[in-house]
Amino acid sequence: QYDVLIVGAGHAGAQAAISLRQSNFVGSIGLVGDEPSPPYDRPPLSKEYLAGTKPFERMLIRSDSFWKERNIDLLLGRRIVSIDADAHIVTADDGRVLGFGKLLWATGGQARTLSCPGSELGGIHTIRKRSDTDGLIAELPGTEHVVVVGGGYIGLEAAASLRKMGKEVTIVETLDRVLARVTSPMLSGFYQQVHAEHGVHFQLASGIQALEGKGGRVRSVRLSDNTLLPADLVIAGIGIEPAVAPLRAAGAAGKNGVDVDVRCRTSLPDIFALGDCAAHENQFADGQRIRLESVQNATDQAITVAKEIMGQGQDYFSVPWFWSNQYDLRLQTVGLSIGYDECLVRGDMAQRKFSIIYLRQGRVIALDCVNAPADFAQGRVLLLARAKPDREILTNAALPLKACLG
Ligand code: FAD
Repeated sequence: QYDVLIVGAGHAGAQAAISLRQSNFVGSIGLVGDEPSPPYDRPPLSKEYLAGTKPFERMLIRSDSFWKERNIDLLLGRRIVSIDADAHIVTADDGRVLGFGKLLWATGGQARTLSCPGSELGGIHTIRKRSDTDGLIAELPGTEHVVVVGGGYIGLEAAASLRKMGKEVTIVETLDRVLARVTSPMLSGFYQQVHAEHGVHFQLASGIQALEGKGGRVRSVRLSDNTLLPADLVIAGIGIEPAVAPLRAAGAAGKNGVDVDVRCRTSLPDIFALGDCAAHENQFADGQRIRLESVQNATDQAITVAKEIMGQGQDYFSVPWFWSNQYDLRLQTVGLSIGYDECLVRGDMAQRKFSIIYLRQGRVIALDCVNAPADFAQGRVLLLARAKPDREILTNAALPLKACLG
């Protein structure tokens, strides 16, 4: 029996436990995770960890001793398979039953897998967990050609990491540009060009007909138009499915993940959901119900839940931000560009130091900042001020963005 039982030992779950102890919560805390490792930073899995420049030890969110010293029970290698919301108990895949006072569901999502013919062949990977990247790294020595399916952030980051290692990389994307779901055509075009300069090949607006293999291992990818791409290894970066089946089976409302209110409460009493799996109404998306897949959202929702449990409740209101590292480009995004009606460039795209500013009815709603950390920091202030700045100042990179506030 735990006063607070957290399911999912990733960014959100770990931060919730940390924040509770920081707020002097004295009750018992159990943190259950189905991965064998203690909580770690997931973003390097497609970046430095894949590229071999960051060891796993440096990705740990806290040292082993931290959890013991704070009296947080790590219950690792265990998957929660069912919840009895009335009885306040959960059951793990090893049959163990755990009681809870409050349940925090912070399970993130499972990487979507390919479903075309040949998807069962060896050499096909996703990148969500440490074990995924370890499996991929183990196969790299015999790999020359990699096909990355999906031109989202994870696909592009993996492509950049693999180019650094000299692999031949082709990105296959069903839409007609990379990053199509998350950013403007301008930024998509920029990223595609940089990747092409680094030798990445693109097959845009392309579907996959089948994966073809020999001896149980993938050898090529056949596109819908019959083009055959050589492939010793395939990486599917095609998004996640929120890992909410037990919670939904217990009766929690939600379609895409689990619905939560402004305090991350689900429709079930004493049960919260947070992080990638929590569909919330976001003030920076005009109140639309969305799931955000970012460390920012996982961390800030965890803090919201901890405050709520401590009786210091505050509604979730955090400016969304995100980053992505590829080659020498550090992209930092602030705000959500959903529904923008105008976008402006500030700085010099050719110099690889610029920001794209998104406006709706004259108001700044988001910025994509490439190697422009000052714009990122000051852009956040513009968003919070709900500023409708002068376009001359916005696009004049000689003036700091904060000058827009007068
Ligand atoms: P997770 O961190 O996924 O943690 C959930 C944990 O719960 C996992 O360990 C999962 O295995 C476990 N679990 C699931 N079901 C159960 C169950 N039934 N019982 C027990 N345990 C369970 N975000 C950024 O902001 N910037 C980036 O640059 C960035 N890069 C990324 C690169 C990669 C390769 C990936 C995969 C993600 C990246 N993200 C990035 C997204 C970010 O990592 C996620 O938004 C964040 O991890 C979400 O935290 P979470 O706690 O909700 O989920």
